[in-house]
Amino acid sequence: MGPLLEIQDLEVRYFTGEGVVEAVNGINLTVDRGENLGLVGETGAGKTTTALSILRLLPDPPGRITGGSVRFCGEELRAKTEREMRAIRGGKISMIFQDPMTALNPVIRVGEQIAEVILLHDRISRAEAERRALEMLELVGIPAERGMEYPHQFSGGMKQRVVIAIALACSPELLIADEPTTALDVTVQAQVLELMRRLREKLGTAMVLITHDLGVVAETCDRVAVMYAGEVVESGSLEDIFERAAHPYTVGLFQSIPSMDEDVDMLTPIPGLMPDPTRLPKGCKFHPRCPKAEARCGEICPGTVELSPGHAVRCLLYGGAQGKG
Ligand code: SF4
Repeated sequence: MGPLLEIQDLEVRYFTGEGVVEAVNGINLTVDRGENLGLVGETGAGKTTTALSILRLLPDPPGRITGGSVRFCGEELRAKTEREMRAIRGGKISMIFQDPMTALNPVIRVGEQIAEVILLHDRISRAEAERRALEMLELVGIPAERGMEYPHQFSGGMKQRVVIAIALACSPELLIADEPTTALDVTVQAQVLELMRRLREKLGTAMVLITHDLGVVAETCDRVAVMYAGEVVESGSLEDIFERAAHPYTVGLFQSIPSMDEDVDMLTPIPGLMPDPTRLPKGCKFHPRCPKAEARCGEICPGTVELSPGHAVRCLLYGGAQGKG
């Protein structure tokens, strides 16, 4: 059996008045059934665009998938009709966004909102859908009687629990969570992450977790892909990335966060900013910020090299074929 999700050479552009934004530049990713992939990187790395491309939810115009393939359960999602995609969204693949209010309707009771999603995907009676909705609420730690309340009667953490209940109501095979806990305070964040972990294990759901927070990745993921300027620059198991980070950008990410194990006087932020995606640098896109850059890095675009089974890096220090200039 092939992977649950397989992205190959995905390329996404936004055609704007200011120029063409090269948002995703030939990424390759796979997610196996039940697996949890962390997609990390700074704002503007292309993480959310990748997630929206999987579900074909890019705002078009100006966004468009201009190349590559997205296969789910072996089927090409790019070839699906809009009607087929609607059945997949929320049914087989669900998405959770950072702000729970983007997913909740403020004027509909939360129990009803969960029931509506179930009715959209499963051929069951309204009474049965309402019963399952209340079960879902209980599953995410909210008493069933609160299903009669409106979103504004819930705290931020409770709203995100309702969103999780909606996302998992139809037992999707894949959950895409885009910074699901960033808007929550730290203690609630830990509770929501723990809830997601428990439910995913119970339901066997795979997840792509998008975050800029390596702490969240360490707690939650099996594998990690690090994105920079629309490319995956390093990917591997949690141990590969946390114990044997190879790409200078990944190394820089770790040096810029506090560590529980090491006593360091000063954190070292990565100098500079993510490049303007309408004018990406030639060669390695990280070279203007890279402490290890050599003259050739501004000319040659590195290809992906496998350092050990499953641990891949895109950097000339490790050799590799020359990619597109
Ligand atoms: Fe740094 Fe060169 Fe490697 Fe790019 S290819 S990450 S610039 S050393």
